Formats: sequence, structure tokens, C-alpha cells
Amino acid sequence: MHHFYKKELNFLINVFYKLLVSALPKSNSKMQYSHLNVDNLYTYKTIIELSPFPIYLCMGEELIVTVANSATLKAWGKTQEAIGKPFEQAVPELENQPFKKLLLGVLHNGKAVSYSNYRADIIVDGILQSFYFTFSYQPFKNTAGKTEGVFCIANDVTELVLAKQNLNASEESSRLAIEAAMLGTFDQNLITGEIIWDRRCRTLFDVSLDSPVSYEGTFLPAIHPMDRERVNNHILNYTLVKSLSDGNYDIEYRVIGAGNGATKWVRSSGKVFFNEEDVPLRFIGTVFDITSIKFADEREAMLSAIIESSYDAIISKDLDGNIKSWNSSAERIFGYSADEMIGKSIYTIIPNELREEENQILARLKRGESVKSFETRRLSETKKEIDISLTISPVKDKSGKIVGISKIARDITEKKLAEKQKNDFITIASHELKTPLTTIKSYVQLILNQARKDGDDFKTNALSRVERQVNRMTILIENFLNNAQLIEGRFEIKVERFDIHLLLQESAQHARMVAPSHQITVAAHIPVYVMADRKKIAQVMENLLSNAIKYSPIGSEITINCEIKKESATISVLDRGFGIDRRDHTRLFERFYRVRSEKSKNSSGFGIGLFLVSEILKFHDSKIEMNSEENKGSVFYFDLPIIE
Ligand code: ADP
Repeated sequence: MHHFYKKELNFLINVFYKLLVSALPKSNSKMQYSHLNVDNLYTYKTIIELSPFPIYLCMGEELIVTVANSATLKAWGKTQEAIGKPFEQAVPELENQPFKKLLLGVLHNGKAVSYSNYRADIIVDGILQSFYFTFSYQPFKNTAGKTEGVFCIANDVTELVLAKQNLNASEESSRLAIEAAMLGTFDQNLITGEIIWDRRCRTLFDVSLDSPVSYEGTFLPAIHPMDRERVNNHILNYTLVKSLSDGNYDIEYRVIGAGNGATKWVRSSGKVFFNEEDVPLRFIGTVFDITSIKFADEREAMLSAIIESSYDAIISKDLDGNIKSWNSSAERIFGYSADEMIGKSIYTIIPNELREEENQILARLKRGESVKSFETRRLSETKKEIDISLTISPVKDKSGKIVGISKIARDITEKKLAEKQKNDFITIASHELKTPLTTIKSYVQLILNQARKDGDDFKTNALSRVERQVNRMTILIENFLNNAQLIEGRFEIKVERFDIHLLLQESAQHARMVAPSHQITVAAHIPVYVMADRKKIAQVMENLLSNAIKYSPIGSEITINCEIKKESATISVLDRGFGIDRRDHTRLFERFYRVRSEKSKNSSGFGIGLFLVSEILKFHDSKIEMNSEENKGSVFYFDLPIIE
């Protein structure tokens, strides 16, 4: 491109120069229009004027623009008025650009110069713009060989230069794109068999930078044995056959080696070029590592299969509560199809009275708190309430920001039903047992009194044992009944004013009867009146005392105390038993929780005693507390409000 213009220009310059010289009167040193011969002037004017190339002539030290064709004036963005003015006045914006100096240089040395793609900033249409010219300055000599002026012929190459700049930019950007995409490139000459692989391609195929590459010797062996035949077959019998593929190539396969012996998945695409006879000449294309995409695809497929096959409903939603996914178990449990539910609000399946619960849980998750699984209810499509166990967790993006919520709902209707049947059974059984037990107890006491009176030691002893066991059974049955009431929400307390001290004495008495083996003492002596449910507090004491007896050695001391404060009394039961491991402290009061240790393994129980104690006290706006040290003993205590 470049050379073409230079050559052309030189040729033109010579033509014009000769023309100009012949057009000028020989004697005239200052070239002016008026001094030109008319015929020659006409020829000169026509040729110069019609020239698409800017042509001008500057004369003398002042560089007076004596000639400037319209292409020049157009390039300068000036009118005819520029002619006759010194160069620097004709194009004042060129003042700080090197042109004047260049012109003077030629004027003084008499040597021609030419420049390619030279930038000139000129005001055209009132705007300072950048143009590019390829131009030549020729000395304009008089007959004596003295340089009197400088003749310029130029070519505006602005568009070309800009186009080239753009091309460079687009070449650069496609190179960057290839690099950024980690594309490897290959170029195979199908006639000579020569293959060029770029750096990235060599990395992917684990071929060093300097080793030669061949189809049979390098490419095929680098392909995973399970894919090799398929790829080879695809290239030879499809891609290279114009009628089948039109030269198009796009395939995925595994490469082995890849640096560390790991298998990688690649996607390769390219194009084959054919001659007129459809003989393949050249095969070029790219190779791209898709291992992570493949694995991500596989992982996603696996996860969605797990979600779909889960027996639990798995639902996800955005932070506004709009449902985003709905698996097939959600369809089965709630009766709505995924199509119906995706995009709808989660409130569709939440009973009105439970909306607040949902809001609170959402607020907690948004604060970053975790939420344990819990049991709740949801509405099915037929508006039937379903018991579910719900696990809610936040869905976070890569930066850890919460972007949604996932919910796993398990239908526990049947479990609930079974639980209810079990509770019903225990309640009925306990009720049925309670009445005969009360009768047994009163008769045992009657006969026991009689035996004591008669001084019949054997009977007294035997009946005492019977009474103890009957008492244990009574406590147990009372616990069962209370537990059932709590579950069914029927539990209630009847508050009355009573002397707690008296109750503690009675409980101690009771406990002594059950466990004559322990020394049970009450440390308080004055009457103190409290407001509470007397029967239920008696049950609290029975449970605390029976634990103190169960979990401390025979013969050890158990102390009941009642410390009077300003508005309340603190009642405590202290034993000198095995104590409780710190790790169990928080869970002791859970329903059915029992500590599994060497020492307690022989003591029987259901693990509901402390749960009931805790629940009963909650109903009194109080709370059970404890201190315990292993192998030293435990103290359980609670407050009750005092009344005058
Ligand atoms: P249960 O006695 O039927 O197992 P509880 O709910 O009454 O159930 O007590 C729960 C657990 O707490 C017991 O299994 C026992 O290990 C522990 N525990 C309760 N009271 C005491 C105590 N005074 N000393 C040591 N361990 C105790």
C-alpha cells in the first residue's frame, strides 16, 4: 500500500514539476499568476486544478503561496484568499507544526524530501481536525539552479491511516479475545502435513514449545483413547469432505496429559479451506478448555437429579418471597404443579395465622442468624392443612451475599398422627391406671397402719415396700398425664395461696418413705406463703427429689432449702451425688433427654422428669436453674413469688 503511493507520487511530481517549469517565463524569479504565459497557464491550471492531489508552491524566504490547487484549499479548509499570502498566514494553525521548518529546509538545501502518513492538524469547517498526508517537498529551482521556492504535492491518506489504525485495533482486540478466552489455535497445511500449534494449544495437549507437531504423531496420541477414534473419524470422514461438512468443524473430546496427567475436556472448532476441485488445503481452528464447564454441567445435573428425586419438598425463593423452584415432591405434597407455582408468592401455601412466623424467620436469616428445623403447617391446593417439618437456609452468592432462601419441607402428617395415637394411648392408659392405683394406695396404707399397730414387723416391712412402689408409679403416671396435656395444649395451672414450707415438709416426708436409704432434710423452718399451683409444685419437688435420690449414693445427704428474699422464695434441692457433665447442662431439660454415663446406666427413667419441671415452672413465669459439679453433687433451684 505504502510503496504504491510513494511511487505514484514521485511519478506525478515529476510530471507536474516539468509542466510547471515549462509554464513559467524563464526570466521571472518571483512566480506570479500574471507572469505566466497564457497558453501554458491554461494547461497548467487545468492539470493542476483537476488533480485530486493537493499541489502548491511556496516562493521565497516568506514562503508565499503562489500556487495552490483546489485540492490543497480543500485540504487546508481555506478559500482562494489563501493564495498570495505567506504560508504561515495562509494556514495559521500549522504554525506550531513542523511544516514551515520543513519547507525552509528544502528551500535552503535544495534537496527534496518526502514523508508518509504525516499528521497535520488543520481547522476545517471551523473544527481543528487531524489529517494524514503522504507528501513530497521538491526544490523549485531557477535556470541558474538556485532554489527559489518549494513545490509540494501531497496525498490525503487520512482515511487509510484511520482504517489501518482500526485494523490494528481490531487485530489487537481479537488477539486479546483469544488470549482471554484461553483459546489455543491450530493451523494445518493439509498438503504438506505441517501443523502449527500456538503456545496455548501446546499446553492443552501437553506438547513442549519446540517439539514438532504432526497429526498422527502428536495430535491423535494426545486424545483420550475413548475419544480418539471418534475424533479421527470425524475429521477424516466428515470435516475434510466438503460435500458433507462444508469444511465446518466443531467437536468436544478429552485430552490426556495436559501437564499433570489429568484428563481435560476441550471443545475444538475450525474451518477447512478447499480448492476448486474440493481438495482440502488448509485446516485452521481453535481449542478451548471446557473441563470446568463440563464438571459444572455434570454437578448441576446431579444436584437437580437429587432435588427432583428427593422425597421431601424442596423449594427455593427470592428475598421477596417469590418462588423460584419447585420440585416434584413439592408438587406431590402441596398439590400445585411447578408451572403454577414458579413466580408466585410463597404466602400461597402459608396459613394466614402463620405469616408472622415466616416473616420473623426471614428477618433472622437476613440478619445472618441460623434457623433450626421446626414443625409447622402449610396449605395444600385443596386448602387442607398439612403438618410439615421445615428446614430453612439462606442461599448465598459467591461473595457471600444472601440472594434467596431454600426450604426443605417434610410431610409429617403421618408422623403427627402416629404421635397423637401414642399420646392418646398413654393418656388413656394413665387414666385407667390412676384410679385402681389410688384404691390400692389407700388400702395399702390402711393395712400398713394396722400392721404397725399389731407390731407385725414382717407385714410392716412388706407393705412399706409396696407403698414405695405404688408412690413411684403414681409419680410416673402423673408425669405421663402432664406430658400428654402439654403436647395437646391442655395443660393449665390453678394458682392458690399456700405455705411452701409445709409443702416442702410433705415432699421430704414422701421422699423419705420412697427412699429410706437417704438422709433427707429441710433446712427452712418458718411458714412462707406463695402463689402457685400447689399440686404442680408438689410434682416439681417429687421429680427433683426422686432424681436427687436416683443419682446419688445410698446414705448420702439431700437438702431441701427455702431462701426468703424480698419478693420471692428460692426453693432448692441439693444432693451430693454424681453431678452432671458440663456438656449435658443445656440439654437436661429437653423432653426425653437422658444422660448416658457409666454411673447413671443402671437407673431407669423416661427422661421427662426435668422437662416437666421446666415446663411447669414456665407456666408459673419462673424457671428451673442448676449448678452441678461432677462427683460433688448438684443443686436445682427455682423462685416463686411470696405473698403476705
Ligand atoms: P430421667 O431421670 O427419667 O432420666 P430426667 O428428665 O428427670 O429424666 O433427668 C434427665 C437426666 O438428667 C437424667 O437422665 C440424669 O442423667 C440427669 N440428672 C437429673 N437430675 C440429676 C441429679 N440430681 N444428679 C445427676 N444427674 C441428674
